Formats: sequence, structure tokens, C-alpha cells
Amino acid sequence: MSKTATPALAIRDVSHSYGARRALDHVSFEVPPGSFTVLLGLNGAGKSTLFSLVTRLYAAREGEIDIFGANIMRQPGEALRRLGVVFQARTLDLELSVMQNLVYHAALHGLGSFEARRRGASALARAGLADRANDKARALSGGQMRRVEIARALLHAPRLLLLDEPTVGLDIKARADLLAHVRQLVDTEKLGVLWTTHLIDEVADNDQVVILHRGRVLETGRAADIVGHYGAADIGDAFSRITGADEEKFPA
Ligand code: ADP
Ligand code: MG
Repeated sequence: MSKTATPALAIRDVSHSYGARRALDHVSFEVPPGSFTVLLGLNGAGKSTLFSLVTRLYAAREGEIDIFGANIMRQPGEALRRLGVVFQARTLDLELSVMQNLVYHAALHGLGSFEARRRGASALARAGLADRANDKARALSGGQMRRVEIARALLHAPRLLLLDEPTVGLDIKARADLLAHVRQLVDTEKLGVLWTTHLIDEVADNDQVVILHRGRVLETGRAADIVGHYGAADIGDAFSRITGADEEKFPA
């Protein structure tokens, strides 16, 4: 990765408060293009608050957020065009077919129905769900629903995908499958991904990691490098040393 490549996502000195409660405190980090970057933090660390700022659900008043160099406050159309998002809460309409869920979303992005169906079919094929297009969303497993949400988030061909705790509620096999699916999108499509989780075992050695704790970024870097730097046994051990979070508070 060349140092001059424009980051997929650049967060600079971002803070956010809910009344007197400081949820994010001078947060800065980057997601390199074509990387799998994990935003790792316990419940309450500020992960979803950061998502709300990047997606403009909340106005980012303190600090700067750029998506491929486009500032989300000054060039929102340009910035959001390059962004796909999968929120933590499930957002499929269960009574619609899988394809209808995709087509309606594409219409919001200004795609005509022919183009929407073409892109929907190709996105479902990539997700391994080509044969489920006409099934009601209700008929899918939790992991399959997540993959449809990812397919939907990619319909307008963004270059950056944010996922907020996408594996919550999935069983072990579905979690592993979903992780593998998104890692493959990074490899084959050179998508920049920001994957939010509190689950240490979702981090791989070569991932970029951002450790967020109580609203502050305490460490960033390649997972294996962080482990080495702290002389830790693994990334879970490094996380405990960096955050001071003891094992009991540690989510399994
Ligand atoms: P995470 O997603 O990492 O679990 P959040 O961003 O949801 O963390 O929360 C960060 C902090 O902000 C927590 O202390 C949480 O209680 C607080 N918080 C989140 N949303 C709100 C809100 N709408 N109003 C007040 N406080 C909030
Ligand atoms: Mg959250």
C-alpha cells in the first residue's frame, strides 16, 4: 500500500457528546482502501456513535470525516455515494421477497428497475444466494439476511463498506461464514471495510485494528504488530493490557 493512497475513510479529531456524556473524545484513524479494518471495543466504547457521525445520522460538529477525500459535511453527495452501510439492527422487510428488498433500495439511489434487478441478481450471486431471489426475506437464516443486507449496501457500487457489529445474534458457523464472505469482498473487489465488533476472535493477524475504549482510540495498527509491540500472547491479551479491561468484563 503506497503511503500516498487516499484513505477510504479518514477520521480526524472527532468528538461527540450526548449532553454532558462524552461518547467520543478526539478520535482519529484511517481505513486504507482495499483493507479489512476492525474497530474493536467493548459495549459503550463509542462504536455506533462513530457510525452515526460517518453516515450523517448525527452532524459531525467537532472534527473532520472524509470518505475517499470527500468531506461528509462539505461534499455530502460525493462522500455518501462511495459509502455502503450495514447497521447493527436488521433492516430487511421480512414480508417482501429478497429481490424486492434490493430493488426498492436501489430505487432510492436513483437506479431504474431494470438496472436494479440486474445489479441485484449479480449481488445475490456474489453472496451465494442466487436461488433465493424470490423467497420472502422471512424464510432466510440470520446469516443469509446479513448477506442480503451487505448485497443491498453494495448495489450502488461504493468503495467503502461499514458494518456495525454484523455478527451479533449469529451462531458460530454463521459468524465464520459472514466474516469469510466479507474478507473475500476485500480481496476480490478491493473494497475498504470497517468492521465493528467487541469479539476479539474476529480479528486476524493481518487485519488493521483500531482499539476504541471509552471514546478514545488507544491503539491502531496491524493486529500482529500490536501483539508483538506489547509482547502479548495474542490480540485478546494485548487488548486487556492496552485497555486495562480485566478478564471478567471481557466478552466471550
Ligand atoms: P458502542 O456502539 O461501542 O456500544 P455507543 O456509541 O452506542 O457504544 O455508546 C457510547 C456511549 O454513549 C455509551 O456510554 C452510551 O451509553 C452513550 N450513548 C449512546 N447513545 C446515546 C444516546 N442516544 N443518548 C445518550 N447517550 C448515549
Ligand atoms: Mg454499538
